[in-house]
Parts: sequence; structure tokens; C-alpha cells
Amino acid sequence: MAADRKTVIDALSTILDPAVGKDIWTLGMVRALSVDGASVRFVLEVDPDRSKAFEAVRMAAEQAVLALPGIETVSAVMTAHSSRPPPPDLQTGRQAESRGPARIPGVERILAIASGKGGVGKSTVAANLAVALAAAGRRVGLLDADVYGPSQPRMLGVSGRPASPDGKIILPLRNHGVTLMSIGLMVREDEAVVWRGPMLMGALQQMMNQVQWGGLDVLIVDLPPGTGDVQMTLTQKAEVNGAIVVSTPQDIALIDARKALNMFQKMNTPVAGLIENMSTHVCSRCGHEEPVFGHGGVRSEAERLSLPLLAEIPLHVDIRRASDGGAPVVVSSPGSAQARVFRDLAESLVGQGLA
Ligand code: ADP
Repeated sequence: MAADRKTVIDALSTILDPAVGKDIWTLGMVRALSVDGASVRFVLEVDPDRSKAFEAVRMAAEQAVLALPGIETVSAVMTAHSSRPPPPDLQTGRQAESRGPARIPGVERILAIASGKGGVGKSTVAANLAVALAAAGRRVGLLDADVYGPSQPRMLGVSGRPASPDGKIILPLRNHGVTLMSIGLMVREDEAVVWRGPMLMGALQQMMNQVQWGGLDVLIVDLPPGTGDVQMTLTQKAEVNGAIVVSTPQDIALIDARKALNMFQKMNTPVAGLIENMSTHVCSRCGHEEPVFGHGGVRSEAERLSLPLLAEIPLHVDIRRASDGGAPVVVSSPGSAQARVFRDLAESLVGQGLA
């Protein structure tokens, strides 16, 4: 029988980086691990200055996996992560410094909110979660990384562009107790569509390193839908403590959600759980509940994948109205059942040490 992913990870966890004395799995050097029957592939991301010395480690890692029962082929590729030229600084045109996964100074944790496709309510969840955490006394930042359709400034009711007094530090905006920055505010809308990987990467790195976030218990990142450059860059460059995938119950949304989950797994990013949005429709007049898109699809998906189902959020017109009005439902109707769902979600994430 072929070895499973966990056995492969255990084998990789025995291989030490001699310079640090810690194993390569714990150090996050193993990327894009794929275990496909008898064949295993992974990438070792190494500091370019050490790539020669690391060849012995790469071979040892390959051998350790090859020694597992049922494994016939192993391919371990080494990449020096600054082998590509780093992206230019948007303002100065100078090359920005390139780094591996790193912590943002002052930011305790990063929670990424993702979805397989657009329109499932990812940004609505991110906004309500952010204000619910702020209301619970957490220091919260929200990074709107959806370069193509930034919606957080509208949802959180902030307008204007962020200031940069010295051309280096970027001063974020703030409302409802949440510190907000949106990549979309840095780009002209008509230019966003032509942005390519390196430019997005540069912008995201600026958001992480040049925005004056201040001390934060948690930075929530509202990712663009799908599995593109922004997701890859974030998980490569920052230590993401948990990813949450939002989906509606329909089959088609779930197929895309699976792709997003696979990506996080490949990038070694822990998945905190799934959220079902637009779970059932609650009539604002009579309170009657109807499962417009079916109900429970995300719950069974979460069970299948042994992942927690973190919340089931109803489809309710007040949720949309509140977001459109610049004060998420948690702020505009704090006593409502809809607000309760988001507060419970916030509480459970705090309880798990994720926010
Ligand atoms: P995404 O970020 O996934 O593209 P949005 O959060 O922008 O999705 O949501 C898309 C639209 O659906 C918005 O108009 C939003 O107000 C609305 N919406 C999202 N979730 C709900 C909900 N639970 N009830 C009612 N409207 C919702």
C-alpha cells in the first residue's frame, strides 16, 4: 500500500536543516507537496546563498521519502526564492526586498478569507468578522487584497485614499474599530485588469510591510476569489495562521471551494475551516426560512474533509443592506440573529487562538 501524506510529512520531519537544528517541515521549507499513489513531489524553498550547501539536505529528504513502503518515485526540486528578480517598489521603482514566509511586524496572526468563486459572500464574511472581533475587544486589521473588485472600503463605510506622507509608510484607514487597507485603493480601476503576478506580488508586499498597521491581534486578509497570484504570494511571503474558505451550498460553488482548499494544502497553509453562506433564506417580513440554494452542502463537504464547519450564515436582506450602507450588520443591528452568527464565529476563532 502506498504511503499517505501524513507518513510522508513524518519522514520529512526527520530531516534537519543543519544550520538551524530544526526540521525542514517545521521550518516551512517544504512547498507544494503532492503525494499521488507511489509518486511524491515537493519543492524545497531555500535561501539562495545556501542552495549549494543544501543539496545534501535535498538528497537526504528524497531518500527518506523513497525509503517509505510503497513509494517508487520521489522528485524534490530546490528553489532559491529570490532567484527571480524581486518586484519593483510601486512608488520609487526600486527593487523591493524579497523574503520567505515572514511575520508582519506587530501583527500577531493572519487569517485569510478565501473562496473558490466570486459572489459567495467572502467579503461580507470578512467585514462582519472583522467588526465582530473588534467589538469583542480584539485589535483587528483588514487587508482587502481583492485587486479587481475591492469592496471593503464600501462595506466598512470609509472613503478617500490612504495617505503616504513620506512616500514609504502608508497610513491605513479606520472605521468601526477596524484598521483597513485595500490594494484596490492603490491601483487605478482601469489598470487593475492588466496587473500581472510580479506587480501584484509587489503591491501585496507593500501592504504587508509598508502599511503602518500598528499592533494587531489579527490581520484578516480578504483574498480575491479563486487560486491566483495573490493567494500564492500571500502564503509564500507571510505566515498565514489559518485560511477560511467561504462557499454557498450549491454543487458548483463547492467544486471551486475544493480547488481553493487544495491550494492551501499544497502551500502548507493550515485550513481553519469552512463557512456556508446563504445557507437558507430568512424572509425579513415573516421569518420563514427557505433553503434557496439547498442547505447543508458545505456541512457534508466539511465532514468529508474532516474540517470544521465554522458557521452557517443565512441569506438575509439586512446583511446585504447593512454592507451596502457601510456598516456591517454586526454594527448596524447588533441585537439581530444575523449579527449573532458572526459574533459566535468571532468568539469561536478567539477560543481557538486564531483571532
Ligand atoms: P464575494 O466577496 O464572495 O464576491 P460579497 O461579499 O461581495 O461576495 O457578496 C456578494 C453580494 O451578496 C453582496 O451584494 C453582498 O451584500 C451579498 N451577500 C453576501 N452574503 C449575504 C447574505 N448572507 N445575505 C444577504 N446578502 C448577502
